[in-house]
Amino acid sequence: MQAGQEQNKSMSELTVYGAHWCPDCRRSKQFLGEHQIPYHWVDIEQDKAGEQYVVEKNNGKRIIPTIVFADGSFLVEPSNAQLAAKLGLKMTAERSFYDLIVVGGGPAGLTGALYAAREGIDTLVVERAAFGGQAAMTERLDNLPGFADGVEGSYFADQLRRQAARFGVELLQAQDVTRISHHDNYLGVATADGSEYSARAMLIATGSRYRRLDVPGENEYIGAGIHFCATCDGPFYKGMPVAVIGGGNSAAEESLFLVKLVQKVTLLVRGDQLKASQIVQEKVLRHPQIEVRFNTEVARFDGQRGKLTAVTIRDQRTGATKEIQPAGVFVFIGLAPNTAFLQDSGIRLDRWGFVLTGHELTQAAGSSAHEPSVLETSVPGIFAAGDVRAGSTKQVASAAGEGATAALLVREYLKTT
Ligand SMILES: Cc1cc2nc3c(=O)[nH]c(=O)nc-3n(C[C@H](O)[C@H](O)[C@H](O)COP(=O)(O)OP(=O)(O)OC[C@H]3O[C@@H](n4cnc5c(N)ncnc54)[C@H](O)[C@@H]3O)c2cc1C
Repeated sequence: MQAGQEQNKSMSELTVYGAHWCPDCRRSKQFLGEHQIPYHWVDIEQDKAGEQYVVEKNNGKRIIPTIVFADGSFLVEPSNAQLAAKLGLKMTAERSFYDLIVVGGGPAGLTGALYAAREGIDTLVVERAAFGGQAAMTERLDNLPGFADGVEGSYFADQLRRQAARFGVELLQAQDVTRISHHDNYLGVATADGSEYSARAMLIATGSRYRRLDVPGENEYIGAGIHFCATCDGPFYKGMPVAVIGGGNSAAEESLFLVKLVQKVTLLVRGDQLKASQIVQEKVLRHPQIEVRFNTEVARFDGQRGKLTAVTIRDQRTGATKEIQPAGVFVFIGLAPNTAFLQDSGIRLDRWGFVLTGHELTQAAGSSAHEPSVLETSVPGIFAAGDVRAGSTKQVASAAGEGATAALLVREYLKTT
């Protein structure tokens, strides 16, 4: 057995051989991360045995990513679809027509789906990544009703997925919804693989994602030094210094999480104070390994050979710039809704792109004659719940609650069609 093979067997079921500068390696790692599939990472620049193994597998060529599975089979530079097929992820729905299609399989979508299915409504959930949404990526949920000692986000997500499956919800993952349409009484959903599904009602529960800084260098180093998920990527920086960007609850809480792993956290805050809750602020400000720099913004990111090496920061008051060299940077500056696929759908959004529903919709200038029910969008029969909805509270419990409410509204709506 070769050295690389031994390494592969002992460390993990699935091994990704690649290099930090390789964009396809980053894409494959992101895909595995989003689907919560554990893998062992071998940077062949650092690991000669790993490099030799890749060369042997590829008949003398050094092609990455080379992804090796538990049974010894491997894929070279796979597309996400090839990777999904190899991993046995369900890629197409069983039928083309449902009573209800739920777009997004986070807490709102899965709760809505399981409530609907319990009511006898034939339901399909289409999820682009792994089930559980942001909740699944959260290390620990401490404020979820019914879990006195808190609960791991991934455990909660798995329970929710299983519960939906138990009630007969059809679950489709690794499928991005790219467009929705409506004509006569039918609502349509198109997915990235070209499939089309239709339904009598729809629930938009696509949540939100991390907002980016939009400064030079950011796009180049995402996944190669710049991260948006401490739970997912924090362990890569054990014993090293990292920077966290943001001044709200997420930035402060994630700093407290990261500091358990890393050598030091430098928290870069644009304003002159933290906006986190009082108790979290105190913990951050008292922590000996967290340095907080107020009035500081990021001007640019720089790197070498595809890996982040430096961050230029600017003092907001004086304009003076300075370079710092954290091993990694974690950005927590808020959320943007996942609503790009709603462009041209006729669904009204607010100025940040969140979906308007019910009362907020009727208040918005120029709204149509359609009188939406609570959680109903400007298109009759299309509802929205959770983080994607304008005015939602961005919490798991409320997202799940909105999902349940939306399902019961769907039940009433279906009686009228
Ligand atoms: C780091 C972090 C910590 C948090 N901690 C807590 C906490 O302690 N307590 C708490 O109550 N809340 C917490 N939250 C917030 C909580 O996770 C969210 O409020 C909740 O997950 C929102 O649920 P949702 O279903 O509305 O959206 P999401 O959880 O965002 O789920 C939406 C789903 O839709 C999918 N999707 C998006 N676009 C498409 C598309 N075009 N096609 C198909 N699928 C799509 C996404 O992949 C995702 O799975 C935390 C969030 C983060 C990021």
